[in-house]
Amino acid sequence: MSAPSFDVVVVGAGAGGSAAAWRLASHGQRVLLLDAGPAFDPASDYRLHQPDWELTRFPEKPGSRGRYTFAPMQALDPAHDDLRSWNRIHGRFNRGNQRIASGEGYHHVRGIGGSTLHYTGEAHRMNPHSMRLQADHGAGADWPLDYAQLEPYYLEAEKLIGVAGPADPGDRWRSAPYPLPPHRLCRASRLLGKAADGLGWSWEVSPRAALSLPYDGRLPCNYCGGCNRGCPRGDKGSADVTFVAKARASGRCDIRPGCAVVALVVGEGRRIAAVDYVGPDGKRVRVETPQLVLAGGAIETPRLLLAHNAANPRQRIAHESGQLGRNLMESSGWTSVGLAPEDLASFGGLPADAICWKFNRPDAIEGVVGGYKLSTAIHETDLAGPVAYARRAIPGWGRRHKAQVREQFGRAVAVSATGEFLPNAGSFVDLDDARADDNGLPLARIHSHNDAMTLRRLAAMARSCRLLLQAAGVETLVEEYGTHDFYSAAHVFGTCRMGSDPATSVVDADLKAHGWQNLLICDASVFPSSGGGEAPSLTIQALAIRAADRLATTHRPIGDTT
Ligand SMILES: Cc1cc2nc3c(=O)[nH]c(=O)nc-3n(C[C@H](O)[C@H](O)[C@H](O)COP(=O)(O)OP(=O)(O)OC[C@H]3O[C@@H](n4cnc5c(N)ncnc54)[C@H](O)[C@@H]3O)c2cc1C
Ligand code: SF4
Repeated sequence: MSAPSFDVVVVGAGAGGSAAAWRLASHGQRVLLLDAGPAFDPASDYRLHQPDWELTRFPEKPGSRGRYTFAPMQALDPAHDDLRSWNRIHGRFNRGNQRIASGEGYHHVRGIGGSTLHYTGEAHRMNPHSMRLQADHGAGADWPLDYAQLEPYYLEAEKLIGVAGPADPGDRWRSAPYPLPPHRLCRASRLLGKAADGLGWSWEVSPRAALSLPYDGRLPCNYCGGCNRGCPRGDKGSADVTFVAKARASGRCDIRPGCAVVALVVGEGRRIAAVDYVGPDGKRVRVETPQLVLAGGAIETPRLLLAHNAANPRQRIAHESGQLGRNLMESSGWTSVGLAPEDLASFGGLPADAICWKFNRPDAIEGVVGGYKLSTAIHETDLAGPVAYARRAIPGWGRRHKAQVREQFGRAVAVSATGEFLPNAGSFVDLDDARADDNGLPLARIHSHNDAMTLRRLAAMARSCRLLLQAAGVETLVEEYGTHDFYSAAHVFGTCRMGSDPATSVVDADLKAHGWQNLLICDASVFPSSGGGEAPSLTIQALAIRAADRLATTHRPIGDTT
């Protein structure tokens, strides 16, 4: 093995890895940032400006999707038929009697920027109440640090990204205003806002990782609505144009796309000595490292560790608590889509620009622990172009159909609820014993189970979405879908749980693996609880920045004699 030429190797350039890499480089550390996926070029890879934009989703490039499998999921109880996904033209989406994975299943991107390339860009802080579920409600697990300890790092992340948000922080107190003023709500959100007012619910501008003014050399949003297809203007705060760009500019971060880490090498004294990766040329390369940060996400990080442990039973890593791979949480989701009585020009606007936090606290639903949030969701449903209207919203064919599509175009209105998911014994990640990737690494296998409380919460979420649309005057529902009959998760957490007790958690509050000298985990896998629907990336980044600061206090860069 050659002498280390880096102070830290970071595996994964998504939300968490890029934030850690940037912060460590700012502390003078020489960082190697490896990602299994490709680099994306917003100008040439994203297709929002092309005539066929509507027929494409987030672009796929070689290596930009990971492979994984699902264990068989639960049978569907007819008592919950009201929560089955359906469309007015096509009927039920899942015609069987068993829960299955949706097309994307685990929604993610492998690449420089990770899943944030595809994300909407909601930029939420956790509700402090959601970080104390065990202490206050006897459910799930508590965070080993509190909101006050994380608050300065939220500010750092928001400043770097250029988050635009409202003045009133509600449950989430702030020590300084958002760096940018809030976005103006689109017409559909204003209609829903009036309806929410009538119901006595809150309805406010959601904090967004999308620029409301020019910021740090980046253009402001043009309200095209295409965030999930990849933002061609670079105003969406995906990690590639924020943390990765800053890490690169530091001159101390070597960024290598197309490099999948396939093995960890254990050294003396409970240290990781090196990692092996397979590069774009297919060659296997070993890099020695004084410090290792794993940030592959809540499916891939446990997979890498579980695969190491299976191949090296005498040198197992992070396994003592028995929690590695357990506690998989997916945010529960429900969406109701309808056609408004008036034209809302809802093909444009900033996605998810408005939010209702009324049901977000863990005790918001009677008899259920864990809340949810509601938001405008037209663009997430992808009912934004004429093809989608013709295929999903307006039945019929021929001239009459065409005329109706024209008449109804711009009236789509949708509300989504995203909810807490408490850890349960049936939800975890292990290794598929029959399938491996091209490098011979066993695939991650996702086990997912909706327990009774999850289904009660989901029912409350569906009721709220329907009620809000009804109050907005929406008479025709065209489609509804949720996570009762489908596994469909963009937010996944918990498989390397953070906690104070090494007997029940994998990493501590500084994201350091219990009992290991030089291993950090900086991604969504460390969340002890999922929150009541908060979008997680900002919290992942705040945690990663904090962890990098803590590491930098003890780990001096090579050659630093101060
Ligand atoms: C459609 C969609 C909408 C979303 N909307 C929002 C939103 O509005 N707000 C929000 O906060 N969140 C949103 N999310 C979720 C958010 O993107 C993720 O929660 C977040 O990116 C997770 O961060 P992470 O660091 O855990 O993993 P990721 O961002 O997924 O990054 C992991 C990276 O690690 C790399 N990697 C994995 N294994 C290896 C390996 N062995 N070797 C090398 N590299 C590896 C992967 O290639 C990937 O690039 C959305 C996600 C999707 C898909
Ligand atoms: S709506 Fe704004 S942030 Fe989203 S893709 Fe368009 S320009 Fe980018």
